[in-house]
Amino acid sequence: MSAVVPAASDAPAPAGPVAGPVAAGEGSAAQWSARYAAALMNTFGAPRRVLVRGDGVYVWDADGRRYLDLLGGIAVNALGHAHPTLTAAISAQLGTLGHVSNFFATPTQIALAERLLGLAEAPAGSRVFFTNSGTEANEAVVKMARRTGRPRILALEGSFHGRTMGALALTHKPAYREPFEPLPGGVEFLPFGDLAVLEDAMADDVAALVLEVVQGEAGVRPLPAGYLARARELADAHGVLLVLDEVQTGIGRTGAWFAFQHPDLGGGVRPDVITLAKGLGGGFPIGAVLALSSEAATLLGPGQHGTTFGGNPVAAAAGLATLGVLERDDVLAHVRELGARLSTVLAAAGPLVVQVRGSGLLLAVELIGPVAGEVADLALAAGFIVNPVTPSALRLAPPLVLTWDQVEPFVAFLASLDPTALGLPAPTDQPKEAS
Ligand code: PLP
Repeated sequence: MSAVVPAASDAPAPAGPVAGPVAAGEGSAAQWSARYAAALMNTFGAPRRVLVRGDGVYVWDADGRRYLDLLGGIAVNALGHAHPTLTAAISAQLGTLGHVSNFFATPTQIALAERLLGLAEAPAGSRVFFTNSGTEANEAVVKMARRTGRPRILALEGSFHGRTMGALALTHKPAYREPFEPLPGGVEFLPFGDLAVLEDAMADDVAALVLEVVQGEAGVRPLPAGYLARARELADAHGVLLVLDEVQTGIGRTGAWFAFQHPDLGGGVRPDVITLAKGLGGGFPIGAVLALSSEAATLLGPGQHGTTFGGNPVAAAAGLATLGVLERDDVLAHVRELGARLSTVLAAAGPLVVQVRGSGLLLAVELIGPVAGEVADLALAAGFIVNPVTPSALRLAPPLVLTWDQVEPFVAFLASLDPTALGLPAPTDQPKEAS
């Protein structure tokens, strides 16, 4: 079967660069790439494309080619690109009151905090601290943990919690950590999903246990059934803060507002602290720490933490608009339905696919060999943005408003790939799983 490719000719012509005093200039993709290399630090490698415009689930590059965005800015663009409600909310807030110092409060900031506490079904005494990103939310968690007076923090192997020094201390991957050591101390990494080790490690000198309900960067790896429930019991027994990093899984990504509320993931086990970012602003930078008890909420007192931009009224307006649209359009039900259908169909999408993991619209397609990079390259050339999250798995974290008709061409593309052309042996019949 030949790949079905979104045709560039279907697309409206890309808008030109913004004119006037904010003009970025003009150029071909090659010219922009050269300017990028000459002007930006090389922390991300060469950009895969230079993108100039987005609309819904599609983006366009500087040469006018259209791509189906199945990565959504890595689980960020919950409403897709250039959503009119989000755009209008940001614009209206910026035109009314764009920024104030944290010596002052704003209605959008207060309303968003209330809304998040409501969605988390937070008990009385719960409180929010706003940040600009996921790593900063986890940075605040490290400070909260220190304020308990206990020396140890537990995290899991495979974890990813961010790149600033405190969050990096919670992040397992040696290649990310080692160039920056010494990192803040006291963090111990436990084997992923091993309850016996957790039982031994939890004690009265542990300040916090920091978990992802689904480890996103490790390849969309959900905690095993029962792990979180037992972690909650142990945290209660030892007075340990149970912290869930929902930076990637929160705000509807798995089909529940938070993954801990998803019956098959967290099963409703309530944490003491949640960290959020990514999808919360629908593409506008914002993060949050939700402390779900008065004890957790008062670990940081006046003067003990701060940020210039955290709680910025425009970012808060973006958060309110994103949550408002997700709720108004019943997007979470759509995420559950589309995610289930997509998992099932992808699991049967040709000889290259061995398994599909994940929930809602956070999925990993496990391939029969370490060819995720090559497949992502072919997909990009064919007009699909996906992420080779491990050598053998593709991650999909598209806008939550994606439809079946929009994603079907990608399924056909994947099914059309020939393993032998990728240097893999011709597959034998093997059972497929969607989990
Ligand atoms: N925590 C998790 C689970 C993440 O997936 C990420 C980013 O991928 C972060 C924290 C860091 O967030 P940010 O990149 O906004 O700092």
